[in-house]
Amino acid sequence: MSLDYNSLLLAVGFSAACLSLTLFGTWLTARTDKFLLTWAISALLVVGDVFTYDAYIATPGRVLGLATFTLLLVGFSMMLGAAHQFRSGGSPMPGILMGSGISLALTLPPMALGYDGLGFMFENMFAALLLFATAAEYWKGRAEAPALAIGAAVLYSATATSFVLCAAALAWDGRLILGHAPSNWAEDLSLIVVIASMTGIGALSLALNQGRLARHHRRNALTDPLTGLLNRRALFDLHGNAPVGAFTAVVVFDLDSFKAINDEFGHAAGDEVLKVFAGELAGNLRPTDVAARMGGEEFALVLKRTLPETVEATAETIRAAFAAYRIETEAGPLTCTVSAGFAFGTKEGLSFDKVLSAADKALYAAKRGGRNQVTASAFRRAG
Ligand code: GH3
Ligand code: MG
Ligand code: MG
Repeated sequence: MSLDYNSLLLAVGFSAACLSLTLFGTWLTARTDKFLLTWAISALLVVGDVFTYDAYIATPGRVLGLATFTLLLVGFSMMLGAAHQFRSGGSPMPGILMGSGISLALTLPPMALGYDGLGFMFENMFAALLLFATAAEYWKGRAEAPALAIGAAVLYSATATSFVLCAAALAWDGRLILGHAPSNWAEDLSLIVVIASMTGIGALSLALNQGRLARHHRRNALTDPLTGLLNRRALFDLHGNAPVGAFTAVVVFDLDSFKAINDEFGHAAGDEVLKVFAGELAGNLRPTDVAARMGGEEFALVLKRTLPETVEATAETIRAAFAAYRIETEAGPLTCTVSAGFAFGTKEGLSFDKVLSAADKALYAAKRGGRNQVTASAFRRAG
């Protein structure tokens, strides 16, 4: 079986159409991922280019020539814009406007003036530049998912290289006026490279997007939306299964008479108080410390490589800073206090649950002792 250039070209057109539909469908299910739309449109422009170019092969002419240049270069500029949008979250417009502006300004005039050979040379060169720039976007964003991003960068570069070869073959040929579509070994090779890369690029790009969504959901599942701290589940994921050693402490905090604040100032003011406390907590941590909202108005802190004096001082700093904070609400200013209890693990290692419940007992001792204070676990003193 032998396939001619036209059949291969149409194969590119149909697979680009399928890619565009897939991207568009994926965008419909998650409208927040706007780059998917940019990308779907870019693939659609490439489809338009393929069919226009196919017509140009049959009947070469300036209008079709100008149309095919425009569709390809705007399409590739949008691909660059989509890659930038995916990596940085910024607008795709600068890439699209600059990419298509510069490339069209230099490729359209030769074609319009009848120098189609020169036009095709420039078109291939700019197509290559845009694809290399797209590869660079993936390369810059590789930290997020190295294998997938580097794979996409390699495929975009391979496609770009095949366009460089097309430009080089035309330059070598040296004719400014062709009168027909370029036809040489580089064109054949390029088409094969495009067919091979496009499938890979489509799969890698969708996998990159899925991976990002999965990480996003995971982060949401582990974060408390009100305070931005870790939630109870995240704390147990991090510490729940390892024995707690003698130099690791768990501090639990519980805001004092918080129900009364909600009753007197309203739930929204209560939420504000929770945020203020979370801010105090997060602001007094070493990089290795972990703070979490356990639920309601209860928070926990895990401190590693620490001593009782340090833990007591840290909890005391947080308690004093919070007690001194005047929170402005619609119903006037309010102040709130917090009680805390802490406990350490043991040399042999104690389960996280046990240390947490020892810290809880100390917390209730602090509540019984009149609130607005920090208490050490009696369990440790006994042990
Ligand atoms: P104590 O000093 O003994 O700890 O008394 P308290 O009033 O703080 O304790 P209690 O457990 O009776 O009340 C806790 C309150 O916290 C009740 C609940 O409505 C409120 N609460 C829990 N979650 C939230 C929240 O996300 N936002 C607000 N505004 N209130 C919350
Ligand atoms: Mg409570
Ligand atoms: Mg409370």
